[in-house]
Amino acid sequence: MNNVSFHVANITIKKGEKHQGYLNVAEASTHTVTMPYIVVNGVNSGPTLTVLSGVHGIECAPVEAVLRLARNVEPMDINGTLILVPIVNTEGFHARKPYHNQLDHQNQNKVFPGDKKASITKRVAFSVFEAFVSKSDYLVDCHSADLGEDATRGMFIYKTEDEELHRKMVKMASCFDCDFIESTSFSGNTGEAVTLYGIPCIMTEGGTPYPIRDDDVLYHYLGIKNLMRHIGMIDEEAALGSPPLDPPTKRVWAMHGGLWRRKIEAGQRVAEGELLGVVSDLHGETLQVATAPYGGVVSFLRIHYSVNEGDTLCRVTQI
Ligand SMILES: [Zn+2]
Repeated sequence: MNNVSFHVANITIKKGEKHQGYLNVAEASTHTVTMPYIVVNGVNSGPTLTVLSGVHGIECAPVEAVLRLARNVEPMDINGTLILVPIVNTEGFHARKPYHNQLDHQNQNKVFPGDKKASITKRVAFSVFEAFVSKSDYLVDCHSADLGEDATRGMFIYKTEDEELHRKMVKMASCFDCDFIESTSFSGNTGEAVTLYGIPCIMTEGGTPYPIRDDDVLYHYLGIKNLMRHIGMIDEEAALGSPPLDPPTKRVWAMHGGLWRRKIEAGQRVAEGELLGVVSDLHGETLQVATAPYGGVVSFLRIHYSVNEGDTLCRVTQI
């Protein structure tokens, strides 16, 4: 049996209890900045898993997935403790602002592990790490593409010299029906928890803010459920895939500013030399014909019609 109570601020969540609340983060000029959370403290002992979404406040498909988990997972169903934070960056959410916290204009995923004496974005990072991640055995940080972007089923793990941790992260990632796994460095993202707490962390990527597609919600939702089987939180066998690790990927970028008239969708398979789209000037004259550098899948796509020189138009990943 799980004899361990979970504490959030002055709230105690006993074994077998499910609790939803708001964690106070800081005082803004007109209101208190808070963060919603749900803790499902299982009847039986087991690992603690934290799942975050809304670190980037308008990446909505993962938020739906986390809320679906909150509805569907009960203490009697699980071993250990499931912590869900559906929207980490609530200031970015209500301002409908990509990447940033609107109160101090910093990117929420570049300031971890945060600082409790700094301005709001770092306080948010500090709070979510202190209250939840520091008490966890595993961390999943769920993202989608952001405003004006779309992304297929991607997955990030973090570069580490620790082979055991690396192996755990690959296994965690393989619980998701992802197209590929990409190794990335720590740079103020939630992967900082790998070195800070020595826990395996993954960052999912899939979907777009508009529209919220159920396929993208399910990518995150089913992956997390499968991961819960893999780490022993659910008494069922996990189904692990074998996605390619660090396949070649190329960025196709805008050589001119203007209109991006794309001919492709995220997740689409393209052949070498296939037309990806055309960049035109504001009179509609063609400036750049973008073609696929090699055969692969469009793993990231700019869906904004307006494009600036140097913007990424898409990425083609050789899978
Ligand atoms: Zn993001």
